[in-house]
Amino acid sequence: MRLGLIAMSGIRAHSPRLMEVGLTLPAVLERGKIVASMPTLSLLTLAALCPDDVEIEYHDIEDLAAQGPLPENFDLVVVSSLSAQIRDAYRVADHYRAAGTAVVMGGLHVLAQPDEAARHCTAIALGEGELLWPQILADFRAGRLKPRYQVPPNTWFDLADAPMPRWDLLNIDKYNRLTVQTTRGCPHLCDFCASSVLLTPRYSIKPPEKVIAEIRAIKRVWSRPFIEFADDNSFIARRQAKELLAALADEDVGWFTETDISIADDPELLDLMKDSGCKQVLIGLESPLPAGLGGLEIKRDWKLKRQPSYEAAIDAIQSRGITVNGCFILGLDGQTPDVFDAIHDFAERTALWEVQITVLTPFPGTPLYDRLLRENRILEPGAWEKCTLFDVNFRPTHMTPQQLEDGLVDLARRLYEPDFVQRRRETFFQRRRDAR
Ligand code: SF4
Repeated sequence: MRLGLIAMSGIRAHSPRLMEVGLTLPAVLERGKIVASMPTLSLLTLAALCPDDVEIEYHDIEDLAAQGPLPENFDLVVVSSLSAQIRDAYRVADHYRAAGTAVVMGGLHVLAQPDEAARHCTAIALGEGELLWPQILADFRAGRLKPRYQVPPNTWFDLADAPMPRWDLLNIDKYNRLTVQTTRGCPHLCDFCASSVLLTPRYSIKPPEKVIAEIRAIKRVWSRPFIEFADDNSFIARRQAKELLAALADEDVGWFTETDISIADDPELLDLMKDSGCKQVLIGLESPLPAGLGGLEIKRDWKLKRQPSYEAAIDAIQSRGITVNGCFILGLDGQTPDVFDAIHDFAERTALWEVQITVLTPFPGTPLYDRLLRENRILEPGAWEKCTLFDVNFRPTHMTPQQLEDGLVDLARRLYEPDFVQRRRETFFQRRRDAR
């Protein structure tokens, strides 16, 4: 049997104006490009769950319009895609189905829009792939593939049972970093979050020895790897995090992860991160001002309460030489146009190494999407191609959509202006020297 794994990997702004800005200011889309140029871990994990007699090919499609003929001769194809490229993913699925090849799709978008996805697929998978894939594969091989597979309520996958992803399927020269998942889920439940929080009802931790085994497997196919932890929020479970970091220190790898500002409360954790090769952490600060942070999480105002300590926390992290990629969301409810200057000034004061700005994006399936739809504030409901994190597809509370787009463009120009970037980085190094 021949299995094709197709990852729709390109991310680009939908608006031509934003694309133009993105192209002249590469840092605007830099993180998006890094994300887009990483292999899709979920597909490599499905590959790991296949018996040995399944022949598997993995393909990334960055731009369907520029793509030549699609790879052919598969018995079964799995297509993975984020919301922004879902229309292209459906075109790919339609192509294979028209040729008589069975197509399976899963992931967050399909979970949020199952009926839409079902029109393009032979089968859809709703929930964590590890729980569904063995049955899907067995049913396909027995000639009885069902149209819908769904994880039962209150059921989750334990990362302790995670298989070793098939990195050996990759053309490794194409990638500048590979992903390893150490945890899944996040307790904060931000209403805009379209991460695995939607798929995973609880925080799941991969045992440190399993993570180290994966890193060693990567080192066998790539001698000097750079690892990105594909976690929603690393280090929530401190004891296990410290065990992992202590073991990681012997592996001689550089790594990056996404976490939250609470890591700055724990000097021992920060030291272990530094000693184990951490180069950068990405932290969703969301706003440098209290306005916009209230009501962000479904249960509690965690980020609002943390906001007064943001500057000291960034200093504690960066003074160890770990750079912070501070992420801000433009257009949060309650934010006024003051937020644009406030982010610029905050980046300068804290010497943030990197700053990422995105606009509030109502991804399907999120509480935010449902709320904005109820409030009649989505400009084009169902325009998934605008879920790029840069295109404005809703009415903010204290500015117009046009003001928000103009503010994004102007702030991007100012934040990524080379002199400003250099000034922040010189201050970073100066503070690092002062801290020694
Ligand atoms: S902190 Fe980040 S990962 Fe956690 S719910 Fe919020 S956006 Fe999602």
